[in-house]
Amino acid sequence: MSAKKVYSVCGMCTVRCPIQVEVKDGSLVFLQGNPHADGIKGAVCARGSAGPALVNDNERPQFPMIREGERGEGRWRKVSWDDALDFVADRLKGIKAKYGARSVLFSDRGGPFRDLHMAFMKGLGSPNYSNHDASCARNVQHAALSVFGFGRKDVVYDLKNSRHVVLQSRNIFESINVKEVNDLVTALDKGSRLTVIDIRANISASKAHNFFLIRPGTDYAFNLAVIHALLYQDLYDARFAHLWIKDLRELREFVRPYTPAWAEEETGIEKDRIVALARELAHAKPAVLWHPGWMTSRYKDSFYTCRSIYLINALLGSVGAKGGLPLANKPSDVGRKGLKKLVDLFPKPQDKRADGVGWRYPHFDSGPGLLHLAFKTIESEDPYPLKAYIAYRHDPLMGFPEAERLKKIMQKLELIVSVTFSWSDTAWFSDVVLPLSPYLERESILATKNGLKPYFFVRKRAVDPRFDSLADWEIISRLSRRLDMQALAFESIEDLWTFQLEGAGVAIQDFDATGMVPLSEGPKYWKVDELKFKTPSGKIEVLSEKLEAQGLPSLKPYQSPVAPEDGKFRLTFGRCAVHTQGHTVNNPILSEEMPVNVLWMNAEIAQEMRIEDGSEVEVANHNHSGRMKVKLTELIHPDAVFMVHGFGHSLPVESRARGKGVADNLLMQGGLDIWDPAGGGVAMQEHFVTVRKVG
Ligand code: SF4
Repeated sequence: MSAKKVYSVCGMCTVRCPIQVEVKDGSLVFLQGNPHADGIKGAVCARGSAGPALVNDNERPQFPMIREGERGEGRWRKVSWDDALDFVADRLKGIKAKYGARSVLFSDRGGPFRDLHMAFMKGLGSPNYSNHDASCARNVQHAALSVFGFGRKDVVYDLKNSRHVVLQSRNIFESINVKEVNDLVTALDKGSRLTVIDIRANISASKAHNFFLIRPGTDYAFNLAVIHALLYQDLYDARFAHLWIKDLRELREFVRPYTPAWAEEETGIEKDRIVALARELAHAKPAVLWHPGWMTSRYKDSFYTCRSIYLINALLGSVGAKGGLPLANKPSDVGRKGLKKLVDLFPKPQDKRADGVGWRYPHFDSGPGLLHLAFKTIESEDPYPLKAYIAYRHDPLMGFPEAERLKKIMQKLELIVSVTFSWSDTAWFSDVVLPLSPYLERESILATKNGLKPYFFVRKRAVDPRFDSLADWEIISRLSRRLDMQALAFESIEDLWTFQLEGAGVAIQDFDATGMVPLSEGPKYWKVDELKFKTPSGKIEVLSEKLEAQGLPSLKPYQSPVAPEDGKFRLTFGRCAVHTQGHTVNNPILSEEMPVNVLWMNAEIAQEMRIEDGSEVEVANHNHSGRMKVKLTELIHPDAVFMVHGFGHSLPVESRARGKGVADNLLMQGGLDIWDPAGGGVAMQEHFVTVRKVG
């Protein structure tokens, strides 16, 4: 029998690239990026190619389990799906009867399939759907909302057509999105310039024309100086500014003291280089893309850094422009109907959110709220108790600071459920583990990709589950049936897809040829005078009414970051190209590629401390420490040390990851309380560690 092609969606990270899988006799034989998808070019990254290893891995949850011993003890009872789901449904019913539906909290990792989860929570009657984003991109999301009135995904990163790309809080060649990597390589081949601003020379920096090794925590100063140069040296796009930027005069006045010479003192970057960058950008405008960042939960002023990036893009006229940040088209923008939403099956819950988003904090996006504030609500029971928590493919015990404190907080919960395809600290600490089929073994609901050419796409099941696991729609449908939410209790994925496609003018067979259904012929760019912003004025707003109403400045005066005390270093962290946070560290192939993280340290400083390249050190903060090897380089700022996030696993069920490397989040004492009230993100790079040679 010849191999059949199955179109699906990668699930090895949250990018979810379209893929094509070849299957023969029920087995995976080849996997590649979907060759029909724009910008993918048939590629997957290293993690994507390790998807089959995830399927073949025996060290993943293989059947539903209910906790036997204490939380975190690791004693489990193997149960049937009926028993597991009856247990969860009965507990949820009991908690709902005692504390109300609002006492249930759910978190996932966001993305195109979240409609199902949001519908489940709405059907339950709880407003407390959340995701991981308080420890990721909330600052940039809130920055976009404050400036444009719409979210960060309502613009496209048109890397392919850019003439100058600036990466700051974004490391495209290591924190990989396959289309972004391909598009940036295409642009570089066509002569685009690349500028990287970072505290260390990452892989993206190695491909840059300009690399600025910046003092940690001073990005906002750098950006204010760029705005100063653009405005005071008449380098900005005056026509665009006249059309679309409200409060330009206030911005000009605000940045008056923030000259490039001033910024040189703060950032350590020569003023002439800052001015030269502003001139280069002005020369390339409007096809300039200063990336607003992805994982921006870093410093206390990261939100303002993100705002300044959007304002720089606006001053260069790149907002809406080809090669800049054109507006993303939804189906309705190209004359089509969107997918029918599952979340519309149920009425909006009446209760306010437990995390305060939307009422205590009206300036935040109430969509997924802020999970760290929900955790604090579990602790305080203010405004009401939270008693059940469902973590869907989410590991806050590794993703947020202070795992031990979080565990204590979670002990106040009467039910913790993890839906997961790999072990995690949170799953290990749960009462019930519901094993999710890995993405190659499951279908998902249909989803929409908004963009220059919006399209619908499908994830189809490539192979049958090896173990006793289920797809998320199966878990949600079976739970919904038990919880009397019949509208969400679908019998088959075909029924669910048919529901979603109602009225969209598309049939499920239309996905057969390529896995996608394009909704427009070609890319649609909006003309500069046709742009639409969702702010009160309809323009790009420098001053935000919502922020000011909360007593938060729209233009925050710069504050110099705290310098590390003698013998201490600012702890910084990031990604590498072969792992996705913690969940790939135990993957049989990827663990071989990179089994352990190391500590990047400035070579000159290390020499003073008699630390050699490759020697073992103890990294410590307060009462936590870990041992790891050092990598010495001149290309990291001397104030900082750096490690790749996701290591330091301790679970006995993960033989390849256990005891390898150090978990950065354990070194963030007090970190749940360090967050930005304007942007909402947890500030995870406001911690300092000592480094001591051992052995
Ligand atoms: S970037 Fe890599 S891991 Fe992420 S979805 Fe794409 S192929 Fe998969």
